[in-house]
Amino acid sequence: MTARIPATLIAGDGIGPEIMAATLTVLEALQAPFDWDAQVAGLGGVNTAGDPLPQATLDSIRKTRLALKGPLETPSGGGYRSSNVRLREAFKLYANMRPAKTLIPGGRFDKIDLMVFRENVEGLYMGYEHYIPIDDDPHAVAIATGVNTRQGARHILDYAFQTAISMGRKKVTVVHKANIMKALTGIFLETAYQLHKEKYAGQIGLDDVIVDACCMKLVINPWQFDTLVTTNLFGDILSDLAAGLVGGLGMAPGANIGQDAAIFEAVHGSAPDIAGKGIANPIALMLAGGLMLDHVRLHDKAQRLRQAISETLNADGVRTGDLGGKASTKDFTDAVVARIRHS
Ligand code: NAD
Repeated sequence: MTARIPATLIAGDGIGPEIMAATLTVLEALQAPFDWDAQVAGLGGVNTAGDPLPQATLDSIRKTRLALKGPLETPSGGGYRSSNVRLREAFKLYANMRPAKTLIPGGRFDKIDLMVFRENVEGLYMGYEHYIPIDDDPHAVAIATGVNTRQGARHILDYAFQTAISMGRKKVTVVHKANIMKALTGIFLETAYQLHKEKYAGQIGLDDVIVDACCMKLVINPWQFDTLVTTNLFGDILSDLAAGLVGGLGMAPGANIGQDAAIFEAVHGSAPDIAGKGIANPIALMLAGGLMLDHVRLHDKAQRLRQAISETLNADGVRTGDLGGKASTKDFTDAVVARIRHS
């Protein structure tokens, strides 16, 4: 019998509860041995516990060291600080792995198999920001501080090189803006070449590209890239671009890996525009469940899940609206479960 695995569950905001219910249904069909401890965060945390990241949620993850998380709403401009960013800080989740792989053949970009590794706890993304008031304008000047460290760069780069090599990948491309942000992103580029020379030369190739050129190249010829590794903000943007190449945000999962825990999630947000309608595409969160199964070395179940999703999309032609289909979240989930039962 497979040992039970305690794990924290955060359904999240907006479409979160709908796609989480779908994901739990397929994990159940796979007999995934997770013992879930349900907790709240984001807007759900504010509404039910008066806190966007309640202590009970932190305590649960500290205990289980493993979580599946739906999208969490973060107010733009003002309001509370992102619970996602705080979770990454709290558990030192320094590596964010976001695979983008074609699931539906024959689209505008076919046979995409890109891996994006994003530094997850440093850089301009951390929200170290303030305003300077002048006269009667409290927001006259805005200042943001970006911090990248040699040690932080080594952490994510080491993880990216090792994971890419273990996956049989051939080339890592560092994405940066070291021509302009010579210190902030230069340190990342410099560390990548140092580390490659020290530990990985001969095992995997390394080159680099400036972030603006990378965006253009990804749209013109994405097949020239294999594995991208980059700083926090660029990784946030590039991984959405990569998701767009494979059919949109509904298809892109992410793994946040760190010293003290691993948290799996969809790349997309809480999609308030379609929340509660039962039409959200649950694939990204289901695939995040697949990455979580891989993480606990249940590769066979992870593979069955990916296969069932692919067959549902392609052999059965069951697709949600964002993919041009008519299926509801539940229709799609039922079809995946049927495929799992026959696998
Ligand atoms: P979003 O990703 O929620 O939505 C962007 C667009 O993609 C919307 O049109 C939405 O309907 C569509 N979309 C997203 N996921 C979909 C799915 N599974 N199926 C079908 N369509 C889908 O981005 P946003 O609107 O910029 O952000 C909304 C909220 O989510 C914000 O509060 C933001 O801070 C938060 N957010 C959270 C996370 C996270 O928790 N990891 C990530 C990104 C954004």
